[in-house]
Amino acid sequence: MSEDKLKIEKIRKGTVIDHINAGYALTILDLTGIAESPNLMTIGINVLSKKIPKKDIIKIENVFLNEIQMQQISILSPNATISLIEDYKVIEKKKVKIPEIIKKLIVCQNITCITNAELPSGGKEPIDTEFTVLTEKPLKIQCVYCDRIYKLDEITFISKGRKEKKIKQQIL
Ligand SMILES: [Zn+2]
Repeated sequence: MSEDKLKIEKIRKGTVIDHINAGYALTILDLTGIAESPNLMTIGINVLSKKIPKKDIIKIENVFLNEIQMQQISILSPNATISLIEDYKVIEKKKVKIPEIIKKLIVCQNITCITNAELPSGGKEPIDTEFTVLTEKPLKIQCVYCDRIYKLDEITFISKGRKEKKIKQQIL
């Protein structure tokens, strides 16, 4: 067992999100809605690691992530790994993957963008946002509709409660 694994207790069943960029664990918990889970969570912030200078780790019992949550994590921490645990053993481990097109997760802040168009009364559904990933590290995405380009610290996520959430880069 490597040294950094000893620092956080093992879980019996659930998910370990490892190699999160240092400082992003709380943002990930909040954005994915995991923070509201009643299950046991262990969070390591600024854990020393051999691979990257420092990292965050989240362990959650009895919770398995859905596709949307994994995409949210991939945007905030492209090096993150997701391990599924059963009986204290890793039964599956995967790296998150940023989708080529990010749909419905991020707000376009250009007020003239069609995704922000006011709905005519009795009109149809608003247009879902869609961004092309130009580069992954560092992240750069472009709105499919208005071509505006965003870096990670400029991104506003669409959160569950339809409220908008600006993600601030917490790395100093
Ligand atoms: Zn746009």
